[in-house]
Amino acid sequence: MVRQVLNYLRTVRFYFFTKIGRAGETDYEGKIWLNPNHDILPTAIHEAIHCLRPDLTEEQVLKRESAVCNRMRNKDWRELLEIVTANLKGAKK
Ligand SMILES: [Zn+2]
Repeated sequence: MVRQVLNYLRTVRFYFFTKIGRAGETDYEGKIWLNPNHDILPTAIHEAIHCLRPDLTEEQVLKRESAVCNRMRNKDWRELLEIVTANLKGAKK
C-alpha cells in the first residue's frame, strides 16, 4: 500500500489551503488541498487513500492511513516530501 500511495501521489497536484477544522480535501480528480496548520504528509496519504479507495468510510480510511504511516520508512517520508514539494502549486482552489 505504501508504494501504491506514493505512486498515486506522483500524479496529483497539491495546493495549500487554510480552513479551520480541515486538514485536507480532494476532488478525487487529481487535486489535493493540504492545510499547512496540520500534518501535511499524513494528510496527503489520507487523501490518496480516499482517491484510491472511494468505497471506504472515513473510519476505514483513517485506519489505513495509520497502517500506511506505520509502514513508511525514512526514505519513504523523504520521497513523499519530495513529491509534495515538486507538485505543490501556487493557486488556491
Ligand atoms: Zn477523510
